[in-house]
Amino acid sequence: MKYTNSLDFAKELDIKDPLQKYRKEFIFPSFTSKPVVYFTGNSLGLQPKSVRDAINTELDDWGKWGVEGHFEAQNPWVSYHEILTEKTARLVGAHPREVVVTHSLTTNLHLLMVSFYRPNGKRNKIICEKKAFPSDQYALQSQAKLHGFKPEDVIVEVGPRTGEHLIREEDIISTIKEVGDELAMVMIGGVNYYSGQVFDMKSITKAGHQVGAKVGFDLAHAAGNIKLELNAWDVDFATWCSYKYLNSSPGGVSGLYINEKHVKDEELVRLAGWWGHNKEERFLMADEFQPIPTAESWQLSNAPVIAMAIHNASLSIFDEVGMDALIEKRDQLTGYLEFIINDISNRYENVDFEIITPKNPLKRGAQLSILAHGKGKELFNYISKEGVVADWREPNVIRIAPAPLYNNYEDVYRFGQILEGALK
Ligand SMILES: *Cc1c(COP(=O)(O)O)cnc(C)c1O
Repeated sequence: MKYTNSLDFAKELDIKDPLQKYRKEFIFPSFTSKPVVYFTGNSLGLQPKSVRDAINTELDDWGKWGVEGHFEAQNPWVSYHEILTEKTARLVGAHPREVVVTHSLTTNLHLLMVSFYRPNGKRNKIICEKKAFPSDQYALQSQAKLHGFKPEDVIVEVGPRTGEHLIREEDIISTIKEVGDELAMVMIGGVNYYSGQVFDMKSITKAGHQVGAKVGFDLAHAAGNIKLELNAWDVDFATWCSYKYLNSSPGGVSGLYINEKHVKDEELVRLAGWWGHNKEERFLMADEFQPIPTAESWQLSNAPVIAMAIHNASLSIFDEVGMDALIEKRDQLTGYLEFIINDISNRYENVDFEIITPKNPLKRGAQLSILAHGKGKELFNYISKEGVVADWREPNVIRIAPAPLYNNYEDVYRFGQILEGALK
């Protein structure tokens, strides 16, 4: 598409946008003194208006039923998580028996690694991306220690080559081959949180399996942002949070996926709790754990119903729209943002914006990460004052992500105007 940096052009795209009606279904922050341009859906998604009713339903039922609500509520709490299963499966390209919504992201990462990082003799190495999200680094390091290793002896990081910002997939694949029969697990962010780079999860999984390793992904920046086909790609395990692109409240519940071949494997080591136990017999209080033959058996505790209600309300919007329609708009919206930034960068002498996120729409989602050479924090502070809610990552990257469900082309145009204001 040929883009133009003008308000008329942006408004015309908004009129033609098949998803335009969804913007009204979200609450935009009101704390900024100038009208807000919210480009941080990759960090905390906006509140869908529908969550208030969803929460109230559960509060009313708690009030009316007390403990009986476990069975008598409109959405009985004892099986509450099941309401989310099919929508979640569609979102990540999995069978319903492969997914469950439970716990939080880092917790799930640990629970999954207990099952899938099983070092055996010399097969004890982990491959991850360099400068992974801190929580993932800490989780990996502590898993290594749990097995008695020094993290630096078993964790192999793959980073960008000198002078580059992105990790070459060929470098990930060749590292997998090199580590070979010493490789126990690959655990990488499906979308890199810093650069916005999308990794080819299918090829990475295949390469990992060829050397006999397990392969899992942290999908915090992928769920609700890119098309996922976890089952078709034969991924062993994955987990994601719901509060970034999935708009399901700060600290909201997480989802996890475990490939069906593992789900059925009763011998697979897992940390167990009563909510993972055979549902028919849960309340018989048996002494011995009988895992449910689905991903549900990784659940430890009964579900936090209020947080689940929020996530369910939000997932319903994704289910209605579908990832294909969302991605079509995402590419056009992010493409417009890229065009505007490059247009400004070309016209102003005093700045050079370098977008480090891949140019190829198949290799990125909604996010663009910008290095502002010659400007930096001061530019960021200016645009923040003018109503832009974006994200600053040390040492010098501005991350912005127009969310296709609620951002529009006019937001992108206005962002450009504010950026120009900063340079003038
Ligand atoms: C956001 C994010 C987290 C946060 O973990 P929580 O357990 O939800 O606090 C972890 N890892 C990655 C890659 C993230 O992007």
